[in-house]
Amino acid sequence: MQSETTTDSPLWGLDLGGTKLEGVILESRSNPKVLHRQRIPTEAGKGYEHIVNQVGKLVDLLSEESGLKPAWVGIGHPGTLDPNTGLIKNANTTALNGRPFNIDLEKRLGVPVRLANDANCFAVAEALLGKVPEVLPNAEVVFGIIMGTGVGGGWVIHGKGIGGRQGIAGEWGHNFLDESGGPCYCGRVGCVETVISGPALERFYEQKTLRHLPLRDIVTAAETGDDDDAVQTMDRLVQFFGKAVAVVINIMDPDAIVIGGGVGNTDRLYTDGVAEARKYLFNTRIDTVFLKPQLGDSAGVFGAALL
Ligand SMILES: [Zn+2]
Repeated sequence: MQSETTTDSPLWGLDLGGTKLEGVILESRSNPKVLHRQRIPTEAGKGYEHIVNQVGKLVDLLSEESGLKPAWVGIGHPGTLDPNTGLIKNANTTALNGRPFNIDLEKRLGVPVRLANDANCFAVAEALLGKVPEVLPNAEVVFGIIMGTGVGGGWVIHGKGIGGRQGIAGEWGHNFLDESGGPCYCGRVGCVETVISGPALERFYEQKTLRHLPLRDIVTAAETGDDDDAVQTMDRLVQFFGKAVAVVINIMDPDAIVIGGGVGNTDRLYTDGVAEARKYLFNTRIDTVFLKPQLGDSAGVFGAALL
């Protein structure tokens, strides 16, 4: 009955961001209630060793508060642990890149760690604990999207997060979309992220108007209808979102897509964006259900705890 004991033991999940580091202890997989929660600054600017120490400090804090010791710790983080080199790559918290983060953390924590990309943690949490089980209890394939400063995503298949052969599963943000996006930090041109991320849309608006506005204000200006440049910026988002996400649907045909992140909050994505996707789909209908996320900021830690 070993496995039953494991299923019912508390789960430890951490979410490592560039600015904050959050951790939770959940009661169990079958009853994922938050028992304890702590948050400390990451202070990523102080370098790699400091980040490893901050993770250790957070786990110590949770241990003191709860009187518990973890059997293992799940950690969501920017970038990917390359399964072939054992080193982190593609992280915008650049101090992590090229480092054997899991090994250094295991040394510091004294227990096994399971790492996953933060978008993958978001996808796992929303697929297992968010709106998906309520709306589609039999969903087999779920794609979780994060559209904000960057564009990323993660797959959950039969309840399990999928990392991929090279750790890049779900990275639709760096599919080619349109030359007009210009150069991407990844070294290519016209990636999805260069067209429909928040900064990309702000740049598009600024090129038209010579005014910099945060995306939130562009959305508001477009809704009032008298700022034609704002309307065109939102049209660009909706049209290219549809075109980009249709590629994903044609390949994996997910039951549900959950759209998180600041840009993902745009209502038109769920109506006009879906209608645009249908134009490029190898089907006359679009049955994939598009959902808003339900767990908010907590998705990262929940997903990490469920790894
Ligand atoms: Zn790119």
